[in-house]
Amino acid sequence: MSLPSHAQIVVIGGGIIGCSTAYHLARDHNADVLLLEQGKLTSGSTWHAAGLVGQLRSSAAITQVLKYSVELYKRLDQETDLSTGWKMTGCLRLACNAARMEEFKRSAKTAKSFGMEMELLSASEAKALWPLLEVNDLVGASFLPTDGQANPSDIAQSLAKGARMNGADLREDIRVIGFEKSGGRITAVETTEGKVTCDSVVNCAGQWARQVGAMAGVMVPLQPIKHQYVITEPLKGLSLDAPTIRDPDRRTYFKEDVGGIVFGGYEPNPIPWTTGDVPNDFAFQLFDDDWDHFAQHMEQALVRIPTLGEVGIKQMINGPESFTPDGNFILGQAPECENMYVGAGFNAFGIASGGGAGWALAQWVVDGKPPLDLADVDIRRFPQDYRDHDKVLHETLRFYADHYALAPQL
Ligand SMILES: Cc1cc2nc3c(=O)[nH]c(=O)nc-3n(C[C@H](O)[C@H](O)[C@H](O)COP(=O)(O)OP(=O)(O)OC[C@H]3O[C@@H](n4cnc5c(N)ncnc54)[C@H](O)[C@@H]3O)c2cc1C
Repeated sequence: MSLPSHAQIVVIGGGIIGCSTAYHLARDHNADVLLLEQGKLTSGSTWHAAGLVGQLRSSAAITQVLKYSVELYKRLDQETDLSTGWKMTGCLRLACNAARMEEFKRSAKTAKSFGMEMELLSASEAKALWPLLEVNDLVGASFLPTDGQANPSDIAQSLAKGARMNGADLREDIRVIGFEKSGGRITAVETTEGKVTCDSVVNCAGQWARQVGAMAGVMVPLQPIKHQYVITEPLKGLSLDAPTIRDPDRRTYFKEDVGGIVFGGYEPNPIPWTTGDVPNDFAFQLFDDDWDHFAQHMEQALVRIPTLGEVGIKQMINGPESFTPDGNFILGQAPECENMYVGAGFNAFGIASGGGAGWALAQWVVDGKPPLDLADVDIRRFPQDYRDHDKVLHETLRFYADHYALAPQL
């Protein structure tokens, strides 16, 4: 089927963010939406995500966005009849020191202000929730019962189906290769299948968003970094409803997966991918396993869950994800081009953000302003010197390394 000659809004990228944006534009705003994906839907970073869905961040606005995601994921499968793998398992956060426990107490207050009850637990209460845990080193823990996990590809496909059910046109195997501009605005999108005139463009191109933005003179300061986790064989005694775990003082996270465990972490010595253009044909691909780099997480995970030592590793996933200089994602209207909007740079919480970010971005495109105060993620927070790739690389690596550092007292 040939491309339409005109679409009101062209969304670039069929990962979870593009699918969610198209879904919300079509469902909430009755917009005429064309989504273009250069490969297949989910073939970028979305297909290989671990699938933890947490809600609490130090920013109130981002927490609101993530909470929206959970509300959506809870009922999306009923709307689209396409399962998402959503399980409201709750999330257990572990504190190995008093400062971390203080951080959890502050988080519990923040959670309460958003109508979420975050419980503070003793080490033995944490063990009761997750019997395979070693808790001798814990000062305490927190538990947010409404966090959960899902299958990332299935959520994106379910959003894509919902978008189509509401009239959006989603096309695969079509790459955006340029833009026609007039008077600082994009007037048409050039693709491998011809030209489409449009009123607005939404750049949801994941780690490619930087080069897609550059074609319109728009700066998107992100850096792809290699991110790894492993999937184990089934563990005896592990509940299929076990909460996800964040063990920030040991820099690791865990999630139940078909009776086994997915675990990974954030290294103090992250490995970046290219600072140049990301190859366009990097679809459904991974990097080689890097066991040397992963050894630090393996060591910590074995201390926390000793029975992990009794099961084999089924698979390692080493995939690229785009990170940003301040750890927050990039959303909103580009200062250099008034009808290009961006949703990219999700710092390994794009699945958790997907529902809410798509909702906020859709409203932003239609109204020309965000639905809530999103200054923390607004693309305009970056001055133009972030066009310097080395600066972006340097600051992003530093932020990644500090991912599980104690949050500053607000
Ligand atoms: C190992 C790993 C584990 C992760 N675990 C989690 C987790 O547990 N929880 C969580 O919330 N997040 C997690 N993430 C992060 C999550 O995968 C990403 O944040 C999310 O998938 C980003 O979605 P996206 O739509 O922005 O990008 P993508 O999924 O990469 O989608 C962008 C799409 O744009 C397309 N595109 C690019 N250029 C063009 C063009 N010129 N024309 C047309 N199409 C184009 C690409 O082909 C691609 O499909 C993890 C990431 C990694 C690497």
